[in-house]
Amino acid sequence: MKLLLVLLAVLAGVWLWQRGRRLSQASRASRGGERAALPMVSCRQCGMHVPGNEAVAGRQGTYCSAAHRRDAEGA
Ligand SMILES: [Zn+2]
Repeated sequence: MKLLLVLLAVLAGVWLWQRGRRLSQASRASRGGERAALPMVSCRQCGMHVPGNEAVAGRQGTYCSAAHRRDAEGA
């Protein structure tokens, strides 16, 4: 009887673990979809395209990084 309880506990643990893994994979996939739907903007300095929420806004345009904004605008 004790062995049966241990077996049930192991099965429940495996079921919960697989369920959690599926849920985390699903949420990761939906986050990736949102990311892909973001508008892309190009860097004025190097032309690289970056997602709108990661772009650095400058006085003359948008940049991929603060370093490129500094290079282009000198500020
Ligand atoms: Zn750049």
